[in-house]
Amino acid sequence: MLEDMDFIKSCDVPGPTKEAIRAIILYKSDVKYSDNVVDVGCGTGGITCEFAQRAKNVTSIDINPEAIEITRKNLEKFGLEENVTLICDDGVKALNDIDNIDIAIIGGSGSKLENIIELIDSKLNSKGRIIITAILVDTKVEAVNKLKELNYNPKIMEVNISKGRVLDRGIMMMSENPIAIISAKKRRLMGDYKNG
Ligand code: SAH
Repeated sequence: MLEDMDFIKSCDVPGPTKEAIRAIILYKSDVKYSDNVVDVGCGTGGITCEFAQRAKNVTSIDINPEAIEITRKNLEKFGLEENVTLICDDGVKALNDIDNIDIAIIGGSGSKLENIIELIDSKLNSKGRIIITAILVDTKVEAVNKLKELNYNPKIMEVNISKGRVLDRGIMMMSENPIAIISAKKRRLMGDYKNG
């Protein structure tokens, strides 16, 4: 895992998603070296950089040009730019031209979450995985409801991480903001079962 403090940051771009959260996303995604990954709302590239090390290729999208620039710098810093494509555009527009997705991470969507989930669903391979990180309660509800509507069986976990600050007289635990990780797997079609 990369360390939070090693990422280049910007006050105009949120992220990186904290290390412990990135670790949970990685294990929930069950990423393999043959996977095509999409990171919608890549921010500083926190998640992009982790998947770049473990997947076949990563397509990272952000509507904010500064986010794309910071992601590029972080990829260069860690020597991970080889299998990553960066797209500066709205997730909805960019996804129209992307197919064959094994894993989709949605870390930012503005007011377009439902649209983005629908598009990803239509491009997701059988057994593909969708993972959404959400800080707002409203986003959590919207994500779960949309996935249910599309016949997924979404799982949601709320993660509260506290890290210790070691002081002279003891250890003070400092909490980070809670974040929900919503994950879902594409269901196999009946035909897939018949064909093994
Ligand atoms: N996971 C990232 C942080 C994501 S912050 C990291 O580890 O650094 C959310 C990002 O989503 C922001 O950079 C924002 O610009 C982007 N975003 C919001 N709405 C978007 C949309 N409709 N299309 C593409 N990107 C979007």
